[in-house]
Amino acid sequence: WLTYKTQQIGKKLNVVLTNIHVFVGPDKWGEDFPVANGPRQSPINIVPKEAQYDSSLKALKLKYDPSNSKGILNNGHSFQVDFVDDTDSSTLTGGPISGTYRLKQFHFHWGASDDRGSEHTVNGIKFPCELHLVHWNTKYPNFGEAASQPDGLAVVGVFLKIGAANPRLQKVLDALDAIKTKGKQTTFTNFDAKTLLPPSLDYWTYDGSLTTPPLLESVTWIVLKEPISVSSVQMAKFRSLLFTGEGEAPCCMADNYRPPQPLKGRQVRASFK
Ligand SMILES: [Zn+2]
Repeated sequence: WLTYKTQQIGKKLNVVLTNIHVFVGPDKWGEDFPVANGPRQSPINIVPKEAQYDSSLKALKLKYDPSNSKGILNNGHSFQVDFVDDTDSSTLTGGPISGTYRLKQFHFHWGASDDRGSEHTVNGIKFPCELHLVHWNTKYPNFGEAASQPDGLAVVGVFLKIGAANPRLQKVLDALDAIKTKGKQTTFTNFDAKTLLPPSLDYWTYDGSLTTPPLLESVTWIVLKEPISVSSVQMAKFRSLLFTGEGEAPCCMADNYRPPQPLKGRQVRASFK
């Protein structure tokens, strides 16, 4: 049995490594990750009229220390800004969660054109881009352990909507030239992630999953109602990144979103009326 289990784990690890090497689209994930069809998969289409206002939901408290941002990485399916997470200096508390969750990283999902790109949709409407701020529950020893627990992660999702150029976002976009190809990374310090949030922290919340393999059902999703702005020129900058590594035939990074998954009886709650 142990041998069998070891082989199974080895097989999954290979799949994960393969997916890191070549971007494999969401339509193929179900073959290797049966949880792709699980009871609490993400993203979902949010239907505001079906969401239940819950007066017991608290206000979100985001306390971010700019000195915690350390680097920016092209991970082959998106780019992420990583944070030092060995103390409680950048945390998410309140909202639908209990206890303290630490900021680990943020990343984005976007389309090949401005008519698509977000993972969550609202009444079927797609936004051109969606920001994910990923936090882990400090009742577990680290991010890796938390990632497989039902209450292990809390991700704040923020929609980007075409409008005026966003100067806070531009700080991030200016770093992309240095990480054009897969696997490249560079330092990215003193960035205040709070500057990426909209004025209102009204949110929808539901129990879901990671939206990339291994699709673990460990995420409390907190999706903000109010989008932040991005210009079309800024969106083009996202697409200047490559899925591919240095020396490979270049393939522009775009459409790196998973489409909405079945709700399967889950209730979406709203923090606002
Ligand atoms: Zn994401």
